[in-house]
Parts: sequence; C-alpha cells; structure tokens
Amino acid sequence: MDADVIVVGAGPVGLFLAAELELAGAGALVLERRETPSTETKARGLGALATEALRRRGLGDRLAEADVAGTKDLARDHGSTLGHFAGIHKIVPDPDRPRTNIWQPELERLLAEHASGVRVLRGHDVTALESDVDGVAVTAGGREWRAKYLVGCDGGRSTVRKLAGFGFPGTPALLRTIAGCVRFAGDVPPGGRYAAGTFMSGGSMAGVSEPAGPEREGPVTPDELAASIARVTGRQVTVEEVRDGRRFGDQARQADTYRRGRVFLAGDAAHVHSPSGGQGLNLGIPDAANLGWKLGAVIRGDKPEGFLDTYTRERHPAAEAVLRNTRAQSALLAPGPHVDALREIVAELMDLPEANRFFADLMSGVRHRYALPYPAPAPAGEHCPDLELVDGSGRKTRLHEHTRTGRGLLLTTEHPADPRIDVVEAANTGPLLLRPDGVIAWAGEGPLDVALDTWF
Ligand SMILES: Cc1cc2nc3c(=O)[nH]c(=O)nc-3n(C[C@H](O)[C@H](O)[C@H](O)COP(=O)(O)OP(=O)(O)OC[C@H]3O[C@@H](n4cnc5c(N)ncnc54)[C@H](O)[C@@H]3O)c2cc1C
Repeated sequence: MDADVIVVGAGPVGLFLAAELELAGAGALVLERRETPSTETKARGLGALATEALRRRGLGDRLAEADVAGTKDLARDHGSTLGHFAGIHKIVPDPDRPRTNIWQPELERLLAEHASGVRVLRGHDVTALESDVDGVAVTAGGREWRAKYLVGCDGGRSTVRKLAGFGFPGTPALLRTIAGCVRFAGDVPPGGRYAAGTFMSGGSMAGVSEPAGPEREGPVTPDELAASIARVTGRQVTVEEVRDGRRFGDQARQADTYRRGRVFLAGDAAHVHSPSGGQGLNLGIPDAANLGWKLGAVIRGDKPEGFLDTYTRERHPAAEAVLRNTRAQSALLAPGPHVDALREIVAELMDLPEANRFFADLMSGVRHRYALPYPAPAPAGEHCPDLELVDGSGRKTRLHEHTRTGRGLLLTTEHPADPRIDVVEAANTGPLLLRPDGVIAWAGEGPLDVALDTWF
C-alpha cells in the first residue's frame, strides 16, 4: 500500500480532506493532474459552514485577513455586500454564522499550507482505476498506486466518478454564462435584465447570461463576448481584451451515491450546480469534514466498515437541498416578462424580516439537519456555530479554540471525562456533544451513551 487513502485532486476539497485524514491518523496521498496550482478565480466566497469548518482547524485568522480585501472587491463588482438570491441582493448576513469573502486561488494557497504535512504529487493524472475487496489501485504518472480507500475530489468532470461507475443524474443547463475581466472601447450598455438575457457589468467584471446553446470549448474570445452582449442587449460593443474568461452553465447533477465499495466522491465530483449564491464549497468542504474523521475511525479499527455509509446518508440530502435552490434561482434568472414579475414579488418578500432570514438560512445551509440514527431533537443533527463558551470562573473562549485536535468534544459542567473525546467546561451553552465535523450529536435529551457509542 502507498497510503491508507488516495485523494485524487488537490483542489480545495482534496486538500482539506487530506489534512483531515492526517489529523484522524490516516495516511493520505494526493494525486493531482496539474503541474502548478490553478489561478482561476472561480469562487470568491466561502459560506458559513465551510468557514466554520476551516475555523475549527485554526484557519480563522487567515480567513478574517482575506475577508477584508475580498469584501472590498465584492462591493466594487456587485455594488453590494449583501447576500443574494438569483441576483436579488437583499439578504442580510447572520452575524452568528459569518461567511468569508476570499478568492479561490488564495483559499487554495492557504489550504496547501494547512495540508503541508501531506504528500501531494503534482503532474499525476489519474487515468485508470481498479478496486477489489482489499483495496483500490489507480494509474497516474506512469505507475500504479494502491491504498485501502480512494476519494475522488477531482471536480465536476470527475474521472474517478466515471471510472468507478457512479450514476450522475440531474438536469441539463437552462442558462449559460460567459464572463471575465473585460476591457471595452467606447460605449457600454447598462447592466441589467434584457428581453434575451442578462448583461452583468460592474467593477472589473462583465458577463452575459442567456438561454443555453451548444457548449463551446477553448478560451473566451473578445469577439465571442461582444457577440453575446449584442444578442442580449441589442447593442454593438467593442471588447478589446478578456482576461480570466470563463464559461459555465447551470446544469444541476448529483452522484446517485457517494460511496461505491472502497471509492468515495466529495466536492464537485459528487455534485454540480449553478454558482449562483456561491455554494459549491459550502457543500464540498463539509463533505470533506464529514468523510475525513469517519475514514480515520475505520482505518484505526475503531469503527466497522458499515460506518462509512453514514457519509452518503448525511451528505447526499445536503447537496439535494442546494440543487433545489440553484434550480429555483435559474428559473428566476431566465429572461422574460413573466420572470420579471416573479422577481419583483420575490424581492418584495425578501423585505419581510422573517422571509429575509429564511433566504439567509437557505443559502448558508445552517438549518440543514442530518437525520441521526437515534431520537434527538434539534439542534442535534445541525452544525454547531462558533459559540462563545464561558466556564465556571467566567473565563471566555470560542469553540474553535478547542477543536484543533479533530476529536469529539463534550461541552458540559457535570459529565465525567471519557477517553474517546475531549471535555470542555461550558456553563453557558447547556450540554452538547460535538462530532469532529462540528455536528451536534447530542444536546442534553436522551442518553449520552447512545450518541457516544454511535459516533466514537
Ligand atoms: C464562476 C464560478 C464561480 C464560483 N463561485 C463560487 C463561490 O463564490 N463560492 C463557492 O463556494 N463556490 C463557487 N464556485 C464553485 C467552486 O469553484 C467549486 O465548488 C470548487 O472549485 C470545488 O472544489 P473541488 O476541490 O471539489 O474541485 P476543483 O476545484 O475542480 O478541483 C479538482 C482538482 O482535481 C484535479 N483533477 C481533475 N481530474 C484529475 C485526474 N484525473 N487526476 C488527478 N487530478 C485531477 C484538477 O486539476 C483540480 O485541481 C464557483 C464556480 C464557478 C465556475
């Protein structure tokens, strides 16, 4: 065996998963196709659940630093720092569940440092995969690599997903967008909704979204973007330069299961959807957080193989919820007067505080609950926020200061220590048992032993 777990792909999800595996005592090897890290500026924001997952491992200060510049850039490009649903920028951020404005290349740099103890082999394109009862073998970089388990974190066009025979059902693209950092010459029409699509223009970015036609490959060209702007706005423009151009659709697909035997999928390899609202990494990072400690527990021999089935059971519904809201956003982004009317009504609804909160929770995923295999009322099954903790002597700390070990954590004033988990005195929260992925496993109702035995 070359490792306990081979992770295919050193994108943000693969890097975070590899670090989680090492923390859980499993040896990870990352195989990455690219010779150098990607500089593509895809994501510019991390949702609350992804932010909290990274904070739990001590990356909070770095995220907070990046957020200052990221928030400035957001205001420049979107004219608002409020959250949005289908481009309706009205969602008031929840101060208890902050997101982070950070560009993806910077995030990947930060995660590469975080995973610096892991062996990452670049220039290793995985092209073949075989799995048997003892392990998994892949071909990359001219040789075979073997491990007990393999996780495909190799993005939306995942080779692992195809080679291992996962189904990937869903809906095709309704809209296609081309965008980039654009230099125009002469007059530019105003940004906004037009009869044939939407022209987005603000700050350094410009782009067009219109009903999906045939897919194109290759770099975005100035002529292609100018033609698209002319189709949508009816105005001829001169595009002198497009930098960092990209095309993307809003197809919404999800792997039918996230585990086939010894092969798992995480991140975009498991689910793709429109980037509207910036939710991809708010799924992918929690996928990695969910799978890492579970694989560690099975590899250490603390848990049986069947434990790994809880990964699909918990994470598949989380992505289903995001696919649902991105499909709804696509319907609201389509051109036409009927959609204009619907958008006006949704915008009015979002002015109601309770509805605004509903949209905030929908987009952050913080109210999504896992179905636990024992009776446990909410908040059990939800991800725990980065609580302030006050001990018996009045000393204040934050939850993230106690979670670097990657172990389970009991917040309590009265329960005795248990060697399987860490125990922290907290007089202000009520008793809470947290899993290594920040999920509340028990909140004081029902027997603690059942929750402890289930997860540890
Ligand atoms: C325009 C745009 C804007 C977005 N904005 C946001 C946002 O604001 N917030 C947000 O959360 N998300 C956003 N997203 C989505 C986000 O970028 C993705 O969810 C994220 O990149 C997924 O990370 P990943 O690690 O799963 O996959 P990827 O980032 O795709 O990484 C996969 C890695 O696997 C490697 N690889 C692929 N095939 C192989 C192979 N055969 N062998 C070895 N290595 C391989 C690739 O080279 C790559 O390094 C946006 C996406 C787009 C397109």
